[in-house]
Amino acid sequence: MKCQLCGLEFNETDGQTACMGCPVERSCSMFKCPNCGYEVPGEPGLLKLFKKWKEKRNADK
Ligand SMILES: [Zn+2]
Repeated sequence: MKCQLCGLEFNETDGQTACMGCPVERSCSMFKCPNCGYEVPGEPGLLKLFKKWKEKRNADK
């Protein structure tokens, strides 16, 4: 993923470990840029769950 502020490209695992001080902790869907600290919004967990649920529903048919 790419930081929208400084343009640095980093992987999601790096961004997640950088967000250790986040009060929301593990449920946080933000990725922090290791370079400038800007928080890049990731895909929300709820949306991921919804997509999964939709896929499952389609598979059942
Ligand atoms: Zn940055």
